[in-house]
Amino acid sequence: MDLVDLLWECHQNKRIRQAETTAAIGKERVEATRADFGRLCKQLARQSLVCQALWELISERLGVTEEELAAKIEEIDLRDGVADGKIGPQQLRCPQCGRPSNSSRRTCLYCGADLDVPHAFG
Ligand SMILES: [Zn+2]
Repeated sequence: MDLVDLLWECHQNKRIRQAETTAAIGKERVEATRADFGRLCKQLARQSLVCQALWELISERLGVTEEELAAKIEEIDLRDGVADGKIGPQQLRCPQCGRPSNSSRRTCLYCGADLDVPHAFG
């Protein structure tokens, strides 16, 4: 093996080690993401269960109908102007400094004042 071949071999071995390290890091990230996803799925299932229980209690005790629930869901969905099946951020004005903000924040970015969020989950 001449010197050029030896240098090429060293270079290739270094690239192989770098690729193996990158692959190992990627594998760890995939495993962490998979674990996060599993936890989120469990939380979502639990929240769906709680929502269903709350809905059934409200419906049984107050006589609210499925149609009223569907209309309310649609009304809330459209508050941000987009029928996308989720609660989007709404434009707000800070009550203290008057600067613009949105409902995804609990406090003003500029002065730190508490913002009046339009709903508990926004
Ligand atoms: Zn402010």
